[in-house]
Amino acid sequence: MSFPPLLPTYARADVAFVRGEGAYLFDEEGRRYLDFGAGVAVNALGHAHPHLVEALREQAGKLWHTSNLYRVPGQETLARRLIEATFADTVFFTNSGVEAIEASIKMARRYHFANGAAERFRIVTFEGAFHGRTLAAIAAGGQAKYLEGFGPKVEGFDQVPFGDANALLAAVSDATAALLIEPIQGEGGLRPVPPEFLRGLRRLCDERGMLLIFDEIQTGIGRTGKLFAHEWAGVEPDIMAIAKGIGGGFPVGACLATAEAAKGMTTGTHGTTFGGNPLAMAVGNAVLDVVLAPGFLEHVQHVGNYAKQQFSSLIAEHPAVFEDLRGEGLMLGLKMRVPNTEFIDRLRAHGMLAIGAGDNVVRLLPPLIIDESHVREAMEKLALTASNISG
Ligand SMILES: *Cc1c(COP(=O)(O)O)cnc(C)c1O
Repeated sequence: MSFPPLLPTYARADVAFVRGEGAYLFDEEGRRYLDFGAGVAVNALGHAHPHLVEALREQAGKLWHTSNLYRVPGQETLARRLIEATFADTVFFTNSGVEAIEASIKMARRYHFANGAAERFRIVTFEGAFHGRTLAAIAAGGQAKYLEGFGPKVEGFDQVPFGDANALLAAVSDATAALLIEPIQGEGGLRPVPPEFLRGLRRLCDERGMLLIFDEIQTGIGRTGKLFAHEWAGVEPDIMAIAKGIGGGFPVGACLATAEAAKGMTTGTHGTTFGGNPLAMAVGNAVLDVVLAPGFLEHVQHVGNYAKQQFSSLIAEHPAVFEDLRGEGLMLGLKMRVPNTEFIDRLRAHGMLAIGAGDNVVRLLPPLIIDESHVREAMEKLALTASNISG
C-alpha cells in the first residue's frame, strides 16, 4: 500500500513558495503573491524583515541551544520586556501556541492545588474556540471534528455557547478553576467578544475565585492595533497564552501570568527542552524592537481602519459574494455567501493569499508592516475574484 511521505493531515494548495519579501511571496515559477495570510498571523513583520534576519544571523553564529538548566539571557530580556508591556509578572517560554495553552491550563489547576483546592480543576471554554491540537487543547476547543476518534476527551473542560452569559453562569461550579477565551475567535470565524462581555468575565472570575485565561496566540503582538487585543476592553487576564506573531515566523510561544496565578508553578513542576532557546529569543526580542517602537501600533490602527473602510465597500458592490466584514485592526474576516475555500483558491490564482476560517469566513491577516497601497492592491484582487465568481 502506498502512503504519502508527508502525513496527509493537511489539504495543501499545490504551490510552494521559495522566497519572501515584505508582504510578498514568490513561488517556484517566480510568480508573486500578495500575502494576506502571513502564515496564519505568524509573519507579523512580513517576510525577510532586515532587523529579524540580522538578529537571527548574529545569534546563529554565537550560540543555538544550551537547555533550561542554565540561565538564558535572551529569555530574561524578553520576559522583562513582556512584563513591562503587560499585566504579567512572570513568563514561561514555549515553542508553539498549544504549549503555551498547556502551560496555562496546568498553571490554573496548580493555582487551586496550591490553595488547597485540588478539586477545582475544570475550565470553561466557548463554542467556536480554537486552542490548538494537543489532547487537552482539543478538549478545551470542544470541536467534534478535532476530537473524533482520538479516544476519551480529556476530563475537565465545560463548553458554553459563544457570548451566552446565562449558560456560562450555569456551567460555573465550585469545581471551576478558570475561564479560557480568545478575545477574538480566529479559527472560529473572526468573532470578536464584546468588550462588556470580557469585563463581565473578569467580574465573575473575581467573585468566584476563578482565573481568567486569555488565548492571544492569534490576536496578540499588535494584530488588532494594540499590543494585545484585551487592551481594547480594558480588562486584564491572570494568565495569557501568546505565540504566532511574537516569533515573526520563528517558533516561539509564551505563557504570561501574574505572580499570584503562577504561585503553584514551583521548581520541577513544568519544563521544555527547546522552549526559550537563544535563537527564538533573539528573534522575539527583535520583533518587540519593531512592534514597541513609537508609532508602530498607531500605524497598524491607521492601516486597519483604512482596510476596514475599503473592504466594507466590497459588500455593497458584490452582495452575492460577501455578507459582512468583521474584526479589528489587521485581523479582518469576510463572511462569504459563496464557499470560502473556493474563493480563496480563485484569489490565489489572481496572486493573493488569504486564509479560511469557520463560519464560512475568509480571513485577511496581512503582515502588520503593510501600507495603504497594499490594501488597494488587495481590494483590486478581491473585487476581481468576486466578479469572476459571481459572473
Ligand atoms: C494558532 C492558534 C493556537 C495553536 O497554536 P500552535 O502554534 O499551532 O500550537 C491556539 N490558539 C489560537 C487562538 C491560535 O490561533
